[in-house]
Amino acid sequence: MEYENGYGQVQRPKYDCLLFDLDDTLYPLSTGLASSVLKNIQDYMIEKLGVEESKIPDLCNLLYKNYGTTMAGLRAIGYDFDYDEYHSFVHGRLPYDNLKPDPVLRSLLLSSPIRKVIFTNADRVHAVKALSRLGLEDCFEGIICFETLNPTHKITEFIGSSCDSNERPEIFDIIGHFNNPGASSSGLPKTPIICKPSEFATEKALKIANIDPHKTLFFEDSVRNIQSGKRLGLDTVLVGKSQRVKGADYALESIHNLREAIPELWESDKLANNVNYSSTVAVETSVTAQA
Ligand SMILES: [Mg+2]
Repeated sequence: MEYENGYGQVQRPKYDCLLFDLDDTLYPLSTGLASSVLKNIQDYMIEKLGVEESKIPDLCNLLYKNYGTTMAGLRAIGYDFDYDEYHSFVHGRLPYDNLKPDPVLRSLLLSSPIRKVIFTNADRVHAVKALSRLGLEDCFEGIICFETLNPTHKITEFIGSSCDSNERPEIFDIIGHFNNPGASSSGLPKTPIICKPSEFATEKALKIANIDPHKTLFFEDSVRNIQSGKRLGLDTVLVGKSQRVKGADYALESIHNLREAIPELWESDKLANNVNYSSTVAVETSVTAQA
């Protein structure tokens, strides 16, 4: 995307991609989905993994803090479960009726000529459903979701004839670990799950979608995801807050304020007719991500 100015110099727009988180970024926290997700995760841990109820608050907090998502943390400390079953338990009972079509955001997104990609830690079914409820399903070139970054995992694949299926796996006591004076996160077991805010996850997402971080604006409600993106060279927009934090180039109370805050995302409108805007980049779409 380039053009010549009146002096014969080649000008390039600053951004050629807008990368969006989904939950609590494209819709506000007030929908109540985030609190329902947390409640469902806690119920899953009690009902399906047999975690003691009294340990849930500390455990959730430590896993989320150290591993990016509670799910990634549960896998790290030794729990094994089917990812699809986990996602359908956690997302299947969400109050999706609280997500209403957002024609204002839809119009904002469709009127900017810059390519747009979703990057979420959530699973594909949830991402497609949430976007559809918001009326935004056709506003993005592709969705990078849990399945894009993590190969399908079925617990049954790991139960072989040599395994005693009645034997419970050994669980790393992360609460006990942090009760030790001087404990640090360096001695923690690793997770096999790839998710934000790990820089590796974001690098992988950028590569899959053929995104140049230095020409991309990244929208997120999570401060640590913003800071991780910033370290990789992305320009960043913290959504849902009116104050910028370290690592955020912009702060938007609501995604609806986008045009007022960053009008340059629409200023290339006049160039769009002369530009060969390619949408053939190999991004996993909501359909291909099933494979
Ligand atoms: Mg979010």
